[in-house]
Amino acid sequence: MNTYSDSFGNRYTTPQIERRIKKAALEKLEQQFLGHGYNFCQSCFRNDCKPIDVSHTISRKQAKEDGCVEVLWDLENLEILGRECHKIKDKLNIHGTQIQH
Ligand SMILES: [Zn+2]
Repeated sequence: MNTYSDSFGNRYTTPQIERRIKKAALEKLEQQFLGHGYNFCQSCFRNDCKPIDVSHTISRKQAKEDGCVEVLWDLENLEILGRECHKIKDKLNIHGTQIQH
């Protein structure tokens, strides 16, 4: 199975990467929830921009190519987006992660 490197030279398989991403995405949602009492789209702030996805600023493809997969589970690289804004972002060719809630 292919493995991908992080910036420190550790290697991860895709399932290992996906597990970490999922955990980070849940943590991101939980942080927002604890701070605000609810989850919302960080792009438009409308509470009807749903369902909520967690999107990557630096995409999986990019991080794997660049050998810095640790950014995929860095909360700073995650953005909470509603479906509409996520679609707009993807149209701009920034590929996001689609973890749905
Ligand atoms: Zn939105």
